[in-house]
This record gives sequence, structure tokens and C-alpha cells, in this order.
Amino acid sequence: MQLSRFPRVRLCHSPTALEPMERLSALLGGPRLFIKRDDCTGLATGGNKTRKLDFLMGAALAEGADLVITQGAVQSNHVRQTAAAAAKLGLDCRILLERRVPAMPAAYETTGNAFLDRLFGAEIAFRPTGADMNAECEALAAQARSTGRKPYVIPGGGSNPTGALGYVGCALELLGQANEMGLRIDHLVHATGSAGTQAGLLVGLEGCNAGIPVLGISVRAPRDRQEESVHRLAAATADLLGLGQGVARDKVVVDDGYVGPGYGQPTDAMVEAIDLTARHEGILLDPVYSGKGMAGLIGLIRQRAFAPDENIVFLHTGGAAALFAYEDLFRQTA
Ligand SMILES: *Cc1c(COP(=O)(O)O)cnc(C)c1O
Repeated sequence: MQLSRFPRVRLCHSPTALEPMERLSALLGGPRLFIKRDDCTGLATGGNKTRKLDFLMGAALAEGADLVITQGAVQSNHVRQTAAAAAKLGLDCRILLERRVPAMPAAYETTGNAFLDRLFGAEIAFRPTGADMNAECEALAAQARSTGRKPYVIPGGGSNPTGALGYVGCALELLGQANEMGLRIDHLVHATGSAGTQAGLLVGLEGCNAGIPVLGISVRAPRDRQEESVHRLAAATADLLGLGQGVARDKVVVDDGYVGPGYGQPTDAMVEAIDLTARHEGILLDPVYSGKGMAGLIGLIRQRAFAPDENIVFLHTGGAAALFAYEDLFRQTA
């Protein structure tokens, strides 16, 4: 499993910190909670897409691309980090934003990540909810090629085998840190969306026989569909790495109990999780991903899903730039 065989640019500040959350652990009465700070990857307020972009942008440069095309929801963190990476590397960036979340305040399309996309100089166009966004990107790429450009298309969330290599690397990094600290990790929990993070983590951890179960808290898809997506991408990532086999199906575990009404739509548990983590740890979560991920972790702790002496690592995947697009939700608590 040698990641240095793949083209890579160094955007991510790593290793990211692995630290205890003492006050939140005490508040919840155990287990012992730790946080892996992938919100602090250094690129444009950080987040989990940076590790993927190390390999995706590496591939784009290796192919001689002069233009990067990608897509996401209006408040996509992936799109924001891609726009910043393109700016840093001197590539043009065209992005398509899907109006995926219904009934949002007007500021939703101008603040948070949408604001930052513009600041990084990306060319933005909107598409209606339910559009086939990958097909829309391919159409844009075909048009660019017809004018002599060399586009590199990155799928939503940067989730293909090349992007997932970033989270294979994160798995190796986390294991190294835990071994160094003498920390026995009993569970790893994080928010899962386009599946690349969980797929990469599983390939890395299973490839090392780490014995660390990974739990993805879904932010969109029902359990079966999300587990299938992760499993399929893990197989393709293992294949890219030349590993003999993918990840066993029963190692892919997703909980879909914290999605609420839908992607990007608020839940009370998400608001509570953001509030508790801010007030006890001074850490910012986000309303779409890490807030629901933490809501899942807190919910499972309250259901006594973990033993009090277990060590749980929450992978903080970033996203706080989107908080400003959801400011109205926190008026009562602020
Ligand atoms: C994209 C994203 C996720 C989900 O990661 P996937 O690799 O798409 O499953 C989680 N948290 C944040 C903040 C994200 O932006």
C-alpha cells in the first residue's frame, strides 16, 4: 500500500492533531472521546476534501490540465476547497452548484462557502435540484475541450478512488499517532456523504489489520444505499492500490438515524451537537455534516452503545464555513 506511487500535491497540513475532548466526555459521562482535527487541514478554512485534493490535483497536474471542473450543493465544502486549491495551483475553476436544499433563507446562496467560492475566483453556475450533476459537469468539460482547454473533472465530494487515497493516508496517519500515544482506539466515527472518506479509511485500516471499527453517520442516503456506495468505492480504491481484495461487506457500517428530513436540512439533534461542542470544547462543527455526525455519536452514547472505558475517535471533517448560512438556527442558543 504505497501512496507515493501516485501523483500528489501537498495542500494538506498534516498530521492533523489527535486530541482528547475532556469536557465533552465528562458531560456525557464517558466513553473517552478524542477528536481527529481534519477541520484543520490548512486549505481555505480546512476540511476533509483537502486530503482528497492532494491526489486529485496531483492527477490533474500530471495530465496537464489547465481547468478544473466540479460540482456540489450550494454550500458545498468540497467545491470551496477545490476552488482554493485551483487558485493556489494557477488552474481555472468552473463549478456547478445544485440548489439541493429547499426553503433556505436568501443569504444561503451568498454567504458561507458560496461567498468563499467567489473569493477564490471560481466561475459559478447554478442548477435546479435533482439535476444530473455529473452529466452537467461532463457537458461543461466537452464544451471546454471544444475550445482547446484541458479540463479535469472532479466528481462530487472528490469521491473516486484517486480522491479516496487521501483517506487511506489519513488511516495510516491516525494509526501511527495512536500507536505513538499508546492510545487504543475502539471506534472511529464520522459523517458520511459522498463515501470517499469512509471508503479510504476502511481500505487503510483494514489493509493494516488495525481492528478499528468505522461507523459512518449518514447525512443523506438511507443505510443500505450508503453502505453499498462505500463498499463499492472501497473495492475500487483497493484495486487502484493493487491490494488483492477490497473491504469485507460486513466492515462497512452506516447509521442513517440522524439525517432528519434530508440533506442539509436542520435537526434539533444537530443544533444541540454544535452547541455542546462549541461550549465545551471551543470547536466549531457544521450544520450539514459534522454536526449531524456528532449528533449521531452523542445519540449512540446516550443509548449506551459504547462501554464507559472505551476510546472513541470522532473524525472532524470540517465544514464550519457553512455555519454562517445557517445562522438563524442558532438565534435562540446564541
Ligand atoms: C464532504 C464532507 C463530509 C463527507 O465526506 P464524504 O467523503 O463525502 O463522505 C463530511 N463532512 C464535511 C464537512 C464534508 O464537507
